[in-house]
Formats: sequence, structure tokens, C-alpha cells
Amino acid sequence: MTEQSIGKQTREFQTETKQLLDLMIHSIYTNREIFLRELISNASDAIDKIRVQSLTNHDLLEGDPDFAITLVADEKTNSLTITDNGIGMTYDEVVENIGTIAKSGTKSFLEKLKEAGGAADSELIGQFGVGFYSAFMVAEKVTLITRAPGQTKGICWESTGDGTYTIEECDREKRGTSLILSLHPEFRSSENPEENFLNQYTLQRLVKKYSDYIRYPIKMTFTVKGKEGEAATQEVRTLNSMTPLWVKSKNEIKPEEYNQFYKDVFHAWDDPLEVMHTKAEGAVEYTTLLFIPAHAPFDFYQRETNTGIRLYSKNVFVMDNYQDLLPEYLRFVRGLVDSPDFSLNISRELLQHSNQLKKIGKNLEKTIFKTLEKMLEKDRDKYKKFWQEYGKAIKNGTYADFANRDKLQTLLMFPSSHSVDELTTFDEYIARMPAGQTVIYYATGKDRSSVERLPQMEILKEKGLEVLYLFDRVDEFAIDSLREYKEKKFQSISRGDLKLQELDAPKDKKDDEVADKENESLIAAVKEQLTGKVADVKISHRLKTSPVCLVSGDEGISLSMEQILSEMDNSMYKASRILELNPDHELFGVLRELHAVAPDSDNFKDYCELLYGQALLMEGLTPEDPIGFAAKVARLMTKPAK
Ligand code: ADP
Ligand code: MG
Repeated sequence: MTEQSIGKQTREFQTETKQLLDLMIHSIYTNREIFLRELISNASDAIDKIRVQSLTNHDLLEGDPDFAITLVADEKTNSLTITDNGIGMTYDEVVENIGTIAKSGTKSFLEKLKEAGGAADSELIGQFGVGFYSAFMVAEKVTLITRAPGQTKGICWESTGDGTYTIEECDREKRGTSLILSLHPEFRSSENPEENFLNQYTLQRLVKKYSDYIRYPIKMTFTVKGKEGEAATQEVRTLNSMTPLWVKSKNEIKPEEYNQFYKDVFHAWDDPLEVMHTKAEGAVEYTTLLFIPAHAPFDFYQRETNTGIRLYSKNVFVMDNYQDLLPEYLRFVRGLVDSPDFSLNISRELLQHSNQLKKIGKNLEKTIFKTLEKMLEKDRDKYKKFWQEYGKAIKNGTYADFANRDKLQTLLMFPSSHSVDELTTFDEYIARMPAGQTVIYYATGKDRSSVERLPQMEILKEKGLEVLYLFDRVDEFAIDSLREYKEKKFQSISRGDLKLQELDAPKDKKDDEVADKENESLIAAVKEQLTGKVADVKISHRLKTSPVCLVSGDEGISLSMEQILSEMDNSMYKASRILELNPDHELFGVLRELHAVAPDSDNFKDYCELLYGQALLMEGLTPEDPIGFAAKVARLMTKPAK
């Protein structure tokens, strides 16, 4: 560089730069506040550069080793100045980096914008970094004064974003860069404090929101109001906390610190149930800090809640509520991922296609499952709390997430006949199975007392077989989609063959076969009478004191599923109904007599209908013709007592 100063020159921006500036100024109306994040991130990058270079060349620091970024809001000049003591720029570097777009991260933004046909919707703008030029979203005029270490002169660059800029040499004592934003009136108005970028509280809030973990202090002179009568005082404050908690090693962090961090960042009022903090190196590099909130959001199961994972790139906030990292049913997990692979200038759309991010997502899933498995094993009480809040989500996962089914099924818990107040896992159930039991029994119903009074329960109770209770709508979906656990099929007590034979004494088996044979013609007559209502009529091997029950076949949906589906306005699917008669019940004897004496009598027909109606009622279903049913009952009741 010559001793002679280079005078003021006016130059034109590149065509693309012009387009972009035009857009910044005229088309983008939302989320303009991100300009501060962009400019602070540039300042931080510039300090990173000199810090690294000074390790081998200490002179570059010019006796100014205290790296910092300073904000000055000046109401007299209506300007906001962002100063750093970073690497600065030479004349050529300013022309190269600021006058053209080729190098800047803004380039990918512009490409994306072209793809979108030039329409800059707020989502795109909000999630994309827009680099240096974002200054023009809020400033009428931008002045950059910079000096690289070792240079005698500084460079002054200025533009109003109208297509040209001026550049000249100027005096600048300190190394580094100052960016002076002459704010547009809209962004310095006290009427709109949220977007008043001269307001110290607004600036403080934005630094906290977007740049809290920048490694260098972001300082600002704060005016502190004095008490009544006293003058205001001024003090320099550091607005950012600098070290992100997740960067520290695990054993340096106290549980209270995790909890406080969680509450601050995710606006929670209570401590999280669980904290997961892991670092990964290698093919994918990231740090993650995840939390399971103590309580599910009140609307968690009703609609899509606005939760997700927060993304950072080397401590700089990239975006909030990124939802595609975890499957939907795990969206109760809050937290963040910091990876150098995310760039500031990335859209949600691009992220969705990022393989790195997919791998990270898979790893996070593993971390969550491992944590839950351990919790179940080591801290049952905590797991019970977890289950209370998120059990339904895990059940949803078993049929929504095929890939993780094996892990999810070990996490499931159900009430059972074994204990009134403890839930049981499948493994615990299996451990209690007597020899000869080949299937896992379950019953569906609205609560414990209605399930325990089901006629089908009696035989299992008598044989001492444990039955899982499914009270929740999603339960049967989950069990149906799993089909079996550790090669033990799930068997509804109200479906098909209960497979009790293995447990039966050989004598009982013989008796059953005889009963079937003896009653063939009676069964055929009942079936005939109930044509169109039931698919089959059988002698029951599952009833004790009840005369009848209604079950569904092995194939197709169950009766309870039919009910769920019809409540969901889907009455297309019908369970095949099988009426089972208890051969040991007194009523069966009466029926047999009636059939023997007068198989075509109205009386016999009524009995068939009434038995079927009873079976429906016990299942919580209404007889198809309630009035006819009531009339038959009334007729029977008015018969003289024996
Ligand atoms: P990016 O940061 O993605 O490179 P920007 O548009 O934010 O894109 O910045 C363009 C370039 O301008 C930077 O790469 C850097 O070389 C230069 N630059 C911007 N701000 C500063 C600064 N405060 N100090 C030094 N160089 C800067
Ligand atoms: Mg940048």
C-alpha cells in the first residue's frame, strides 16, 4: 500500500447484490431483528480469525488482546454501532468481501430465493442467515470503518443500499471493524419498543435470544435509572453469558445448573424429569442437551404442539422448534443440538434433506431410548412418572415407528390382574407365567371393574392366569400391531381360542369334546335363529357362572376395536361375532329342553334372541333392536313364577 491515501471512490454493487439489497429494503417485513445476530456473528468470526493467527504471530494483537464486541446505541445520531477488535479488512478485502456477493453466505440465500421464484416469504427470511446485507433491513445508511492489523490506514465504506457504495481510506486507530447503522425511523421509534434498536432492553433481549453463547463478551453501556431524585448512572454490562452449558464437560455441571438452564431456555416453571447430555465425534459431530419435561403440555395429545429441538452451530443460535429431528411421538423431548455442520445460512427445507441431520436424529433417538430403559431398570418411581405423562406417546410409537418397535415394546407398561396399583411390563408378565402358558392374555374395557366383571375373565382367574388390562384407546392398536412379544402371541380373552388346553387336565379336554358332540343340533338351531347377527355359535370353554358371552374370531378386528373405529366415524369394519354358550349353566339346560320339545316354538326363538342380547349388553353394546329386546324380557317376566 502506498503512503498516499486512496481518495473517495464511488462503485457499483454487483447485479446480484443490487437485487438482494432491493429485497432487503423493500420486501422483507418480518423478523428483521435477525440483522443483529448476523452482524454479531460476523464480528465473532473476525475475532476468531485474529485469535488463531495471533497464536503464531503475537504482534498482530498490537497490544490489544482483550477480545470483545461492543454495541453503542446513540440517540443523538440515531445510530447503532457494532464494533469488534477482530481481524479487520484491507482495502481489497472490503471490495472483495463486502462489494460482491460471491463469497458471502448470502449467496446461497439468493440461490434459494431464485428457486422460490423471487418470493421472499417470511419463513425463508427468518430461517436463512442473510449475512452482512441484512444491515440494510433496518438501516438507511450503513458505514463500515475497518483496519486490519499492521495497516497504517483504515478503510471507510458507506452505502445507502441504492446500488452504489463509496470507499476511501481513513484514519482508524484501533484494529478491527465498526459497523455504523443509521437506523430507519421505523426502527428507532419509542412507539414500537420491540423493534426499537436503540432501546437498550431490546438490544439486550436480542443478544440473549440469538447470541448468548458467542464466545466473546458483547458489551454495552447501560443506563441505570437512579432512585427518586438521584441521577441516572451508567455501567458497562456484558449482555451474553458466553459459555454455553452444553460445552462444559458433564462432570463439571451440577444438577441445579442443568435445571436452571432448562427453565431459562425453555421457559419452564418446574425442573425437568430427566436430563441427557452427550457429545459425539467422528462421522457426525455434535453436542446435545435434551430434557424430558416433568409434565406433558396440556394439549400434547390433542394437536400438534409447537415443540421441537433448538439448533445451534458452534454456539450460535440457528433456529428454534426444529421438528423433524425426532419422530412425532417423541416431540415431548425439549433441548438443543449444536453441530458445526449446521450453517447459519440454512433453511428448514434444506435441513430436511440433510443426511448429517438425519444421522443426528437417529442418534438422539438412541440416546432417549437408552435413557428410558435405564430409568425403567434403575428408578421405577421416576419411570412411573414418565409413563403417567408420556405413556400414550410411547404406545403411539409402537405402531407409528416400525424401526424402533423392539426398543419401544420393552418400555410399555399396562395394568394387570396381578396387582391393583402396580403396572407391569411384558418382561415382568412373562417372568410370572406358569409352565404351559404359551400366550400373553389381555382384556379390553373402560376400567378395572368393568374388565374384571367380564364373563370371559372367570376362567382365567380360576386358572390363576394373569391378564393385562387395556383401558386406553391406543392400547389395542399397539398390541395389534405388535402381535407378539418374545415369541409369545398376544391373546385377547374375548377372541378365538384361548389356548387353555395345555393347562388343562387331559380329563377336562375329553369332557369338552363330548359336550361339543352332544349339542351339535342345538347349536345349529341357535345359529339358524341368529342368522345375520352372529357368524357362529359355539359351546364355550371359557365361561364359569355366566350363561353366554360374545367373542370375536381370530381373524379380523375385535369387538372393542369395532367400537373404537365407529367412535372415530369409521363404521366400515365389523368384528365377526361369535356367541358362546355355557354348557354348565342352568339356562343351557332350559334351552336344550325347549329345543327338544318344540324347536320351532316362539319361546325357543325368544330365548335365542335374549341370550344374544345379554351377551351384547355385557360387552357394553346395545342390542340391535332394544325395544324388541325389552318386550321379550317383559313377556318372560310376566310369566307366572314357578
Ligand atoms: P459470511 O459471514 O457468511 O461469510 P457475510 O455476508 O455475513 O457472509 O459476510 C461477508 C464477508 O465479509 C465475511 O466473510 C467477512 O470476510 C467479511 N466481514 C463481514 N463482517 C466483518 C467483520 N466485522 N470483520 C471482518 N470481516 C468481516
Ligand atoms: Mg456472516
